[in-house]
Amino acid sequence: MAALTLNIDEIKTANQRFERALTRAWLEGALGGEPPTGFAARGAAELVLTATRLETDVVLRGAFDVALSAPCRRCLKDVAVNAPVRFDLHFKPGKKAESTGSSEDDGESDQSAGFALGAADEETYDGKTIQLESAIREQLLLGLPGSPLCMEDCRGLCAVCGEDRNTVDCGHDQRPPDPRWAALKDLKL
Ligand SMILES: [Zn+2]
Ligand SMILES: [Zn+2]
Repeated sequence: MAALTLNIDEIKTANQRFERALTRAWLEGALGGEPPTGFAARGAAELVLTATRLETDVVLRGAFDVALSAPCRRCLKDVAVNAPVRFDLHFKPGKKAESTGSSEDDGESDQSAGFALGAADEETYDGKTIQLESAIREQLLLGLPGSPLCMEDCRGLCAVCGEDRNTVDCGHDQRPPDPRWAALKDLKL
């Protein structure tokens, strides 16, 4: 896939729109890192970025919807879930960035793009190229939902025999054994 980068010279207007493809393989790699998330990607995603330059800073608003699957937290059956990922990122020039000869870009311009910059994550970029990959991976992981249920009233797996209690009525008692009763049973024997 095309590199997950953005050349700041391409940003010519406020709130300029850019699109980047997130392949299924890239999403799988991000989800399967250490520690693994338990989620798998069901397809590719389209990242839409809205970019604004503020002097040498770049503010990015990003959005993508990713189709995921993960095991049901009770019965472990694969469940399809969709995760909308939304984020704001604030990139500042790093050590190798070109100087514009201006040093008064702090503070006063912060509200000009309508973003709450204080709340946005701050990153740095070098030269003219913003590397998006690690930031996008982080936002994907932050945007993951909790482990899903296959249905609201999933009965889960039997604690005794491991059968799927949604499909099999094995009749086993699912209450955790009370150690005091277990002791009494031993006495009777
Ligand atoms: Zn389930
Ligand atoms: Zn059972």
